[in-house]
Amino acid sequence: MIAPEKILESINTEIVNIPSPFESGWDVRRIREDFPVLRQTVNGKPLVYLDNAASAQSPQMVIDRGIKYLQEEHSSVHRGVHYLSQRATNAFEGARERVRRFINAREARECIFVRGCTEGINLVMHGYGRKFVGEGDEILVSAMEHHANIVPWQMLCEEKKAKLRVIPINDQGELLLDEVEALITERTKLVAVMHISNALGTINPVKEIVRLAHKQGVPVLVDGAQGTPHLAVDVQDIDCDFYIISGHKMFAPTGSGIVYGKAELLERMNPFHGGGAMIRSVSFEKTTYAGLPDKFEAGTPAIAAQIGLGAAIDYLNSIDRVQAHKYEQELLAYATERLAAIEGVRIIGTAHEKASVLSFVVDEVHPHDIGTILDQEGIAIRAGHHCAQPLMQRFGVPATARASFAFYNTKEEADKLADAIEKVIEVFS
Ligand SMILES: *Cc1c(COP(=O)(O)O)cnc(C)c1O
Repeated sequence: MIAPEKILESINTEIVNIPSPFESGWDVRRIREDFPVLRQTVNGKPLVYLDNAASAQSPQMVIDRGIKYLQEEHSSVHRGVHYLSQRATNAFEGARERVRRFINAREARECIFVRGCTEGINLVMHGYGRKFVGEGDEILVSAMEHHANIVPWQMLCEEKKAKLRVIPINDQGELLLDEVEALITERTKLVAVMHISNALGTINPVKEIVRLAHKQGVPVLVDGAQGTPHLAVDVQDIDCDFYIISGHKMFAPTGSGIVYGKAELLERMNPFHGGGAMIRSVSFEKTTYAGLPDKFEAGTPAIAAQIGLGAAIDYLNSIDRVQAHKYEQELLAYATERLAAIEGVRIIGTAHEKASVLSFVVDEVHPHDIGTILDQEGIAIRAGHHCAQPLMQRFGVPATARASFAFYNTKEEADKLADAIEKVIEVFS
């Protein structure tokens, strides 16, 4: 039924040498024990959770850490002299240091806590964009961006009479790198691109984009929402100016996330939200702002969620991520081959370098119907535009169905997905 060598070749050259899928040695049974949410039935069937690109599940370690915080440590951070506040502050700042090491930032103060990727990009739009972008300036994004990395820049462009320009993509869903250099002009104030596409799975050559932009002195923001769950990220190696992380995409609770920014840029930026904790002194005549990272962290932060992000990083550090990545690639190759073999299925997004995201359409069947029927089988996928309507337009589809795999998904689950899609086609034919 499958010719693994052939699939692997078409998916990722790095693993061409693996003779057949599932030789990574990844002990997925063991790993699944860490994720309690997976042990349940939905509509009488074991849950098959393939919506990881929307939000990934938390391991027991993250859940336990949240409970411990709420039971033993909860207090407001930074301002208290009392015991609990100091404990909460230590845990919160401990999470920041974990993030710093995880992405290899130079300093912890370059890691600003935000509630997620959307808030993070809005922070950069307000802090950097509204200060440094003026009439006639340009912001460069790509054709595959998530709405979170389009709409804030559009709002900025409208306010400043600036222009949003777009890096085109090819039919496989890969950025046209040759176009990038020409699209960066003396008017470009920022390049904002995603690391990995949530809708296609494409892994973008962000390091190369940064190199091209920096040649012309233009800073680069990387939307890393899908980067950290799948790849080892080193912000100094990429040399990006901003890298935005969403905790719930990387096995942490919702409400957690990070804006990484180079200190000298963050220092020159305007604050985002105004209020408590971000000030040095306030009078009715004038307010002065605190240093990094406090300048960008007004109000009481999402303490429990961010401590959970720290615990998710501890979890990721406890597993073999190279092996996890290989395993995800094997799963992707296997599922791709199974779906591609089904008549009427068309895969959207066939980039050479892909993460374990599999978008597809089925002739004559709306993606929402696929999603609904699969749910009856206990299979959770996503159907829709994946917050990337311009990308859907580029591919001439209103929506796709999307199965996105994490390292806790199994080959059997990929089979269940394919079998269920075959059923869907039977029902509709
Ligand atoms: C999920 C996602 C976002 C938005 O993240 P939130 O945490 O929902 O704010 C942005 N970009 C990409 C690529 C995503 O996958």
